[in-house]
Amino acid sequence: MPLSSLGSENWYSVIEYMTKITPEFEQTQQEKLLKESPANGQLVDLFSRSISYLRVSLTDQCNLRCIYCTPKEMGEKLPCGELLSYEELLRVIGLAVELGIRKVRLTGGEPLVRKNIVSFIRRLAAIPGLHDIRLTTNGVMLTKYAEDLYSAGIRKLNISLDTLKREKFIRITGADLFDQVWEGIKLVQRMGFSPVKLNMVAMRGINDDELVDFARLSLTHSLQVRFIEFMPIGDGTIWGEERYISADEIRERISVVGELTAMETACMDGPARIYRFKGTEQGRGSIGFISPISHKFCDRCNRLRLTSEGRLRSCLLSDKETDLKRILRVGGSDDDIKNALVQTILDKPKSHTLFEQEGFNCHGRMSRIGG
Ligand code: SAM
Repeated sequence: MPLSSLGSENWYSVIEYMTKITPEFEQTQQEKLLKESPANGQLVDLFSRSISYLRVSLTDQCNLRCIYCTPKEMGEKLPCGELLSYEELLRVIGLAVELGIRKVRLTGGEPLVRKNIVSFIRRLAAIPGLHDIRLTTNGVMLTKYAEDLYSAGIRKLNISLDTLKREKFIRITGADLFDQVWEGIKLVQRMGFSPVKLNMVAMRGINDDELVDFARLSLTHSLQVRFIEFMPIGDGTIWGEERYISADEIRERISVVGELTAMETACMDGPARIYRFKGTEQGRGSIGFISPISHKFCDRCNRLRLTSEGRLRSCLLSDKETDLKRILRVGGSDDDIKNALVQTILDKPKSHTLFEQEGFNCHGRMSRIGG
């Protein structure tokens, strides 16, 4: 493309690239980050985003086969030795906290299918400086684990639920477990977990007839109902552009329930935009929209991900990863691990490039990345 035809936005990127992101600049930034982060408790990337949130996929295995997430053929299960051990995870997370990570989310696959998860969480909660540990689950095993999770220190739960109808639950997940999940949701609310957020991936022709019913849940329950735009991640899911529904369309369709007013979000809340229906009494729920496709929120992205096989990933929608497991298993020092964490943060793209990717698909599998 001739330079003369670049629009002002592109010129800005060129200038930014030429002036900032030279190898020398990165080198200095890396040294600066390594030196300053533990002291001032902040990891800041090249685009001034403070990276404070680590999502950890504990396993690629799941007890459901959701049509938007898991390919029908799961392929080979990762051999146990390919997952990071709890010892390795504790070491990496401890070092990440020293650098400035403040919030950790355990996800998967289904995190609750990993053996001895409760004692792992207890040890995680003992890491000095880590006060915010959250869990994302499909809810299937909540009735079994809720007490233990509570006593281990977890209070904040995200629960995936894409339908309120038993038959459709079977169609979406492949398992007749709606009642069990719903029991789990009621139980954790009674027990005082808070916030409890319901993640609903909206799919046209599959569950969009229930958008209003989900929205109404926020009137009657202390739940944050979060509508997530369907993302094209992984091969073998039912993804198709015709299935995608934008957050704006969802918002329009649930407006029959009432008028939404925006709520203030805390800096740890990440990219969700949160609302409440006007007149909703205190203590009742809220509505969240997560719109990675229609409203890129990359400028507010504070996340780093650790996949189930120990790869660091700075962007959900980019397949670029750092092999941390290799560093751990060749006897890497704490500094080597910190370097890898910092380097991954320095490599964090300014914004995702999904639309430029061939086939409009990110090829990593959701269960290993952790959502
Ligand atoms: N097993 C847990 C669960 O079901 O919540 C955690 C793992 S799951 C991969 C994490 C989150 O990713 C879930 O909230 C799920 O709805 C979301 N997710 C999975 N595939 C998605 C897709 N293609 N588009 C949008 N969200 C997706």
